Amino acid sequence: MTAKLIKGTEIREQILEEITAEVAEIKAKYGKVPGLVTILVGSNPASISYVTLKIQTAHRVGFKEVQDNQPPDISEAALLALIDKYNKDDSINGILVQLPLPKHIDEKKVLNAIDPDKDVDGFHPVNVGRLMIGGSEVKYPPCTPAGIQELIVRAGVETKGAEVVVVGRSNIVGKPIANMMVQKGPGANATVTIVHTGTRDLASHCKRADILIVAAGVPDLVKPEWIKPGACVIDVGVNRVGEKISEKTGKKVAILKGDVDFDRAKEIAGYITPVPGGVGPMTITMLMKNTLKSLKFGLGIA
Ligand code: NAP
Repeated sequence: MTAKLIKGTEIREQILEEITAEVAEIKAKYGKVPGLVTILVGSNPASISYVTLKIQTAHRVGFKEVQDNQPPDISEAALLALIDKYNKDDSINGILVQLPLPKHIDEKKVLNAIDPDKDVDGFHPVNVGRLMIGGSEVKYPPCTPAGIQELIVRAGVETKGAEVVVVGRSNIVGKPIANMMVQKGPGANATVTIVHTGTRDLASHCKRADILIVAAGVPDLVKPEWIKPGACVIDVGVNRVGEKISEKTGKKVAILKGDVDFDRAKEIAGYITPVPGGVGPMTITMLMKNTLKSLKFGLGIA
């Protein structure tokens, strides 16, 4: 059996087109576009490239985008005052603070200062609580888990009654996706198990999964013999396992591998996401979706 590839790169394009069309419609009707601000403290090269990608994507879908760069020695108080300014700014619907922050700043304090109604990353404790309650309480599902659910749904995989096994229990992937898949509603209503390093027999749990979501950060952790024939395998892992020279640019690039032994797993699974090009492209896409949602909440049309 050769699995159907779930291509995040293609699904991203579909969703970004849908968002662009909706932004244009709202602009014509209400004269407003979603506003997204990205606050970058310092000049960490990885952070710069993440922020640039977010801003470029926001621009592409027709948002107002603001990149607010701050020096590495900005005080915690000044950063909190900046967040307060954007909390009160009606033209801004989403506030992102790029992590990591310099050591003299308390990250938790800063993230918790963002108005939960503008927390389009979905990490504020209020939004974590809303996600836990589920249904219409949910405002901003965190972006990577939301992307995972979108991939499963758009691939046409049945979730109702499915055995879902999630490998990993981080606050940004494992716990929220498990929580989302267990909710009573479309794209969910599954029976969910979370496994981690304290789990006694990882393989036996994975073997039961109709949908196996792996977010461990361990290359090739999931062996092909752990996969139920025909299962949907979502590989969230992004592991740098070496470097190569890019054929396109001639520059050195990282060799990336997922948490699943892809080459052999694709012969057993029914559906599988590649790494790169699977879950990865979905995170920023869902960030755009959340920012659009934030404007729609404000206009009373969500
Ligand atoms: P994390 O915070 O390090 O959490 C990893 C989880 O996996 C932990 O709960 C850990 O268990 C569990 N785990 C690790 N090794 C295991 C093993 N051998 N057996 C069973 N469980 C194991 O990682 P994360 O932030 O969730 O990220 C996971 C992976 O997804 C990383 O490769 C990351 O780069 C990738 N990721 C990708 C995206 C994206 O594509 N957009 C977004 C986020 C993350 P314990 O809790 O017991 O330690």
